[in-house]
Amino acid sequence: MDGNSDTTQGNHDKRVADVGFAGISRRNFLKGSGAFLGASFLASSAVVAAGCASEKEKAPASGTSDNSSSAATEFDTFSTDVLVVGCGIGGTLAAVQAYKEGCQVTVVDKGPFKASGVTGMNWEAGVYKFGMIEGRGNWVDGFSNMAVSAKIDEWIGTSLEPWNLALTFVRLGSSSLRRNEDGSLYEREFDVEGVFSRHAPEYLGTHTDIDVLDNTMITGLCISDGICTGAIGVHVPTGRYRVIRAKATVIADGGSTQMFGWSGTGAISINVPDNTGDADMAAFRNGCSLIGTEFFSSDMVSIFPPAIGGSFAAGIGADAYSTQYVMDNQGKYFLGADSEGHYLPITTQVAQAILDGRGSEHDGVYVDLTQPGAAEQLRWAYGRNIEMWKNTFGIDVTAPGYKVEIGIEAFEHMGSPVVDENAMTQIPGLFNVRGLGNMMGVSPFLHFLPPYAGYSAASYALDIDDDNDSSADWASVEEEIMRLEGILNAGGNKRPHEIRHAIQNAVYGAFHVGADADRLNTALAEIQRIKSEDMPQMAVTNKTRCYNTEWRMAIENVNLLELSEATLQASLMREESRMFFFRSDFPETDDENWMANILVNYDNGDFEYEIAPIAVQ
Ligand SMILES: Cc1cc2nc3c(=O)[nH]c(=O)nc-3n(C[C@H](O)[C@H](O)[C@H](O)COP(=O)(O)OP(=O)(O)OC[C@H]3O[C@@H](n4cnc5c(N)ncnc54)[C@H](O)[C@@H]3O)c2cc1C
Repeated sequence: MDGNSDTTQGNHDKRVADVGFAGISRRNFLKGSGAFLGASFLASSAVVAAGCASEKEKAPASGTSDNSSSAATEFDTFSTDVLVVGCGIGGTLAAVQAYKEGCQVTVVDKGPFKASGVTGMNWEAGVYKFGMIEGRGNWVDGFSNMAVSAKIDEWIGTSLEPWNLALTFVRLGSSSLRRNEDGSLYEREFDVEGVFSRHAPEYLGTHTDIDVLDNTMITGLCISDGICTGAIGVHVPTGRYRVIRAKATVIADGGSTQMFGWSGTGAISINVPDNTGDADMAAFRNGCSLIGTEFFSSDMVSIFPPAIGGSFAAGIGADAYSTQYVMDNQGKYFLGADSEGHYLPITTQVAQAILDGRGSEHDGVYVDLTQPGAAEQLRWAYGRNIEMWKNTFGIDVTAPGYKVEIGIEAFEHMGSPVVDENAMTQIPGLFNVRGLGNMMGVSPFLHFLPPYAGYSAASYALDIDDDNDSSADWASVEEEIMRLEGILNAGGNKRPHEIRHAIQNAVYGAFHVGADADRLNTALAEIQRIKSEDMPQMAVTNKTRCYNTEWRMAIENVNLLELSEATLQASLMREESRMFFFRSDFPETDDENWMANILVNYDNGDFEYEIAPIAVQ
């Protein structure tokens, strides 16, 4: 059976989308008594793809909000048992598990279905290569939330389901693991043409009838009496608002690294540009504490020539498979010849070397791909880009004497709403596949925290009485639509991309060679300046609603700016170094004082920071 998606036009006969159109007054919008379109009309409508609104819909099916904008603001409503925001590996695992528990599930993704998110690497490299199933603590350095870990252990102890799901994805194919005929696993030769496997979302599409609303950016939450009753967002191709009502909602919107640097083609990050923490920050603004904001996970990527550096799509990286070829400006390799796989400490060493004057011209170091076998080691797009650099730009990185200049890049960011032992955030009904506050974020639990979040969300949803419709409070929907209309219609002299670059430059200035108090304070001052001077001037010059990427960037800027502030302030507080987190003014790990989490709380626009103990069993 095919999954129901906006792009694949699924045919689930019981679920239909309600088509929004003008004609509902502000009063009716708020009261939820606006025009209601019956299912028979909807089923025959060709306007919106098959979705997931229930025939029992009681809230306004569609309408316009009466706000200061001259344009009508149209919205469509959908309803489901469990809503999952994000369709990477985390979201897919949560969605499939909730579906297996017997729930109607809807996944919303900002990108195109099966082609979005980082997806997929964790459950092979993370779990198998580094043995994370057995040793969950190994990359998290004791930071794991052991309360949720114990609950997960209890849960997986009762069911083979999560293990089977993980192995199913491996069997379907992965970018480095294959099976021998006898079923045993082997690591295949690197395929330089290969990019990330996306077998998890493919499985979702072929083995379930989960509904997928793709190209839909969630920006806000539906909150009713302090309970999460779904989410609100924009269908990017049309600009129509979408309100997805859900008994339980799971956030899975990935690692928000896009505030880290700028290099002509994008952020100095190999994470996907879609991940800007929109759902995380919506939860934050509704009272969820963020955890782990001070932690980026980093490796290295080319930073020169800048127009083709700094990105996964066009850059050349030095990740786990090529760190042994990373050298300083004197030709000294950071790691010895037998050091393949020694991954974690190198960005700290590199930052220190740059501070010591052993860096490259543009505040990086070098990777030497002229060594025998070095170029062949490069994985994914990096390998492919060797040819692209050569053919398109005439740069042969394997030519004798050539060294690729690389800088520290952020491939993950840990800031996410904190979860309890049920993977639920501080808002009842809102769950999160991340939110542990550990150094690798989702990695060590990847097989298990996301499906556990899906399981928990499903249990919560199945407990809610169908007849007890608690989602009649449309104030949060109206408020969010007003906010987005405000962003679209504001006048000013700052384009969203200028503000994005200012944020990226500030954050990069603080972290690209580790951090210290001076650089963190400088960056914080710049973020405060952007907040008070630039943001009130941010103007979307293109007012169209169809694929308005400028509007989208402006909405994202609000989130990235807030996340940047939380990241910088929490980093300033953490006076130690730990794993990827490197304070050059506090280079030692300080377990005595800092085996603790920093929570960021939101209070009417003010941020408050709180040191919290790591949750133990
Ligand atoms: C280049 C690279 C290499 C890596 N290599 C490894 C490795 O070798 N081993 C390893 O263990 N880990 C690796 N990682 C880390 C690992 O891939 C990630 O931790 C993991 O894939 C994250 O999964 P996720 O589902 O949380 O996020 P993602 O896969 O990024 O999914 C997030 C999803 O949320 C969607 N989304 C974002 N915002 C919104 C919104 N507002 N509304 C709706 N949807 C939204 C996005 O479109 C996306 O589909 C790597 C990461 C990168 C970037």
